[in-house]
Amino acid sequence: MRDFHCCATCVNFLAKKNEQERGMIYRCTRLGYDTRPEYKFDCWDPKPHVIKLMEKEKKKKKSS
Ligand code: SF4
Repeated sequence: MRDFHCCATCVNFLAKKNEQERGMIYRCTRLGYDTRPEYKFDCWDPKPHVIKLMEKEKKKKKSS
């Protein structure tokens, strides 16, 4: 099963363009800190479409 657990798939993850410098800003809106999409923490709260994907993969695994 794919591992969806990371900040990028969390409801609290915010990605926005950095207007001053080129690139992106990644923030955790819950904790108020900068983060990275690939970071993994226990405070993870998956987005609804990620929950659906995980459920789908679980069902697929059960039926195979
Ligand atoms: S730090 Fe925790 S709450 Fe914030 S985006 Fe990452 S997993 Fe989600």
